[in-house]
Amino acid sequence: MNLIGKKVRIRAKNRIFEGIVMPSFTGNFVLKLENGYNVGFKEYELIEVVEESLPRGDVKRIEHKEGLPNIKIISTGGTIASKVDYRTGAVTSQFTAEEIVSEVPELAEFCNIDAELLYNILSENMKPENWVELAKHIYEALKHYDGVVITHGTDTMHYTAAAISFMVSTPKPIIFVGAQRSSDRPSSDAAMNLICAAKAATADLGEVGVVMHATTSDDYCYIHRGVKVRKNHTSRRDAFQSINARPIARISYPSLEIEWLFWRFRRNERELNLNAKIEKKVALIKFYPGLSSEILDFYHSKGYRGFVIEGTGLGHVSTDWIETIKKIAEDSVIVMTSQCLWGRVCDRVYDTGRYLLKAGVIEGEDMLPEVALVKLMWLLGNYSLEETKKLIKKNFVGEIEPRTDYW
Ligand code: GLU
Repeated sequence: MNLIGKKVRIRAKNRIFEGIVMPSFTGNFVLKLENGYNVGFKEYELIEVVEESLPRGDVKRIEHKEGLPNIKIISTGGTIASKVDYRTGAVTSQFTAEEIVSEVPELAEFCNIDAELLYNILSENMKPENWVELAKHIYEALKHYDGVVITHGTDTMHYTAAAISFMVSTPKPIIFVGAQRSSDRPSSDAAMNLICAAKAATADLGEVGVVMHATTSDDYCYIHRGVKVRKNHTSRRDAFQSINARPIARISYPSLEIEWLFWRFRRNERELNLNAKIEKKVALIKFYPGLSSEILDFYHSKGYRGFVIEGTGLGHVSTDWIETIKKIAEDSVIVMTSQCLWGRVCDRVYDTGRYLLKAGVIEGEDMLPEVALVKLMWLLGNYSLEETKKLIKKNFVGEIEPRTDYW
């Protein structure tokens, strides 16, 4: 249970303490006591949550303006959703439209915002069932709004963006946005990312994008394709990069001019459709020197029939995996991707690759391993094993670029 921001009573060091749970970077459990002091505990026992969340301040109501596009913001949590007041210890989530616009008033200049708090979770706690629920909410929102923005923790945002890319066929922009630094820090990227994301949600686009800082300065954001993007740095504001593709567009800040670079679907090109079934028993396995193929047997014995291997270089694992792969491929789909990330898998160059292909491995082209994982979950949720073996190589939403280029 995420207790941050909640008022709790605990037992520790043979005493009872009451206070507000603070974010902690040391691994200790930190409480802000009534007297204002923070105390860290290595061990404690939770007695009860005294108050779920602290009351928020008054916020001004906003009127929708005639003629402006209508945007729905769906909040799922993460840094962008949290604002920690280190004086009181309160953690607030910006989830009402009024709160969001009072924090980021620039939004009201070019769009009308409605907002919904779906989750308030860190994205490492996202599960495939959350993707399914989110897809349903996005689908409903798209019936009534000109675009949807999803605020999300950055750690797994690219998995969710990929899942939504496959699940929702969209005539309108679906834009994911996060922040590397929370909005209470001077270097926060939250406001600019959110403004650019809302702008992208009003744009002439009909696909899933991820909007984040393009550089370490506050000069522009990129819209990355949801199936071609990855978080590549733990803390930099420009952590997200398009891989094996150019970003869809660049949004200058603060002018909010959009320079289109690499779009695939414009607004209203596709019908709105939802296909949110998913098979969770799909494994992503990173090969490393010495890793035993028993890992495949293990998953297989647990009922897994979808495997994405993050192989070395052009798409290899050691040759002593080949017998196991051959056996497992009889009733499973095994897709090879590369831990190089950039470039395309090609198992026809070296002997190892040729043996792997003969054993039943399918080349994952230039798909990111995470995207291949999500795609395989989605395909196995909707199609038979034999159909999935063919469809994994089909390009649905731009997850496979036909040409290998030096992006
Ligand atoms: N690890 C958390 C998450 O991904 C916080 C990081 C962030 O939001 O950027 O939700």
